[in-house]
Amino acid sequence: LSDRLVEALGNLRAKGKLTPADVDGTVREIRRALLEADVALPVVKDFVTHVRERALSDDVNRALNPAQQVVQIVNDELVRILGGTESRQIAFAKQPPTVIMLVGLQGAGKTTLAGKLAKWFVGQKHSPMLVAADLQRPNAVTQLRIVGDQAGVPVFSPEPGNGVGDPVRVARESMRIARDKQHDIVIVDTAGRLGVDEALMKQAADIKAAVNPDEVFFVIDSMIGQDAVATAKAFHDGVGFTGAVLTKLDADTRGGAALSVAQTTGQPIMFASVGEKLDDFEVFHPDRMASRILNMGDVLTLIEQAQAAFDEAEAREAAEKLAKDQFTLNDFLKQMQQLRRAGNFKKMIGLMPGITKEAKAALDDFDESSLVRIEAIIQSMTPLEREMPKVLNGSRRARIARGSGTSVTEVNNLVKQFDQMSKMMRTMARGAMPGMPGMGPL
Ligand code: GDP
Ligand code: MG
Repeated sequence: LSDRLVEALGNLRAKGKLTPADVDGTVREIRRALLEADVALPVVKDFVTHVRERALSDDVNRALNPAQQVVQIVNDELVRILGGTESRQIAFAKQPPTVIMLVGLQGAGKTTLAGKLAKWFVGQKHSPMLVAADLQRPNAVTQLRIVGDQAGVPVFSPEPGNGVGDPVRVARESMRIARDKQHDIVIVDTAGRLGVDEALMKQAADIKAAVNPDEVFFVIDSMIGQDAVATAKAFHDGVGFTGAVLTKLDADTRGGAALSVAQTTGQPIMFASVGEKLDDFEVFHPDRMASRILNMGDVLTLIEQAQAAFDEAEAREAAEKLAKDQFTLNDFLKQMQQLRRAGNFKKMIGLMPGITKEAKAALDDFDESSLVRIEAIIQSMTPLEREMPKVLNGSRRARIARGSGTSVTEVNNLVKQFDQMSKMMRTMARGAMPGMPGMGPL
């Protein structure tokens, strides 16, 4: 590792803040990724402005380079907006039944979701009931009955032959039935239309008033793209919802609708629908969606590097062990793996706390591509051998070479390198290395 690079890293760390120039290149990249992910333009603008401000005001995380750091901020922000790292639990009613109402455009996947939710709740020992408050389309009730059968739960619907029923009355009536039959969860399926329309909004709002739901889930097709904002806003203002469910995520979408909805309405995404079968359903993971949205160009690679960046705490622990002569091949393996995950081995070495020029010179002899083989060798060792390399005699070395698919020479080299490195690092950790003024204990 060249001194110049070390110096550059030092400078960067000394800065304490990212500069606009540091930030702008990465932000441009992020902007492009978001647009390609189908996030609506106004949402992209807001989001990027916010990220830029935060990047310029946050203290620099010394373990990351500027681009990685901006990406890390973007990732954190995406996760936060999409619902945070802890997925929100369903707001169960204090007095059962818990009422969940589904709203959204026609074809969004509400009826299918009703079946999925029902099955999911049954799996959690609940006793759900479905309510057919979509009386718009002739076969809507039949469709709900079919998914109800598949999920093994009863479906409440208007008596047939009564002509077109009143969905508000059906919904209200269903509450009484649910209490009578002791269902602890009621899922109300409602009608949608092809586009946002006022009569539809009013009907949904009336049903909502009639059943006083604990949760209103806005169901949205993830392929909706740029229309996500207008649709989400219309339902948010017209009916109000407590969470969103993203459907058809099995299709080849970048999932930008998730961000558009969450950012526009401030409501978290609760679940994801990933296929037509009732089991194709999962709790929504904001972190996975953040990766999906950013899985464009090189952005994800940047994130991976950022996340894999050297864990300072572990490095310190290793350094402390070293100081006590306890640095083992296990620690060495752990560091190798971290470094390899972090991508550029030699560059990352520069980020190790307290690393000296001399130490780096020794490490420069290291061929990065050999890291995989080194890992294999150490993994073929017994715990004892890893803790006490002294015991590695000829037959043990031969066994390890066989087990790791390497040669005895390679095993010998590793042991030698480890020996040199731990000696050198021990000296360094004791602060006895010449030419290291001001180097405190690690
Ligand atoms: P609704 O009008 O909102 O009730 O929507 P439906 O539940 O009737 O779903 C409309 C269509 O989308 C149906 O053909 C479903 O099988 C299909 N669908 C629903 N959810 C998903 C999903 O997550 N993935 C896929 N591929 N298809 C889905
Ligand atoms: Mg339906």
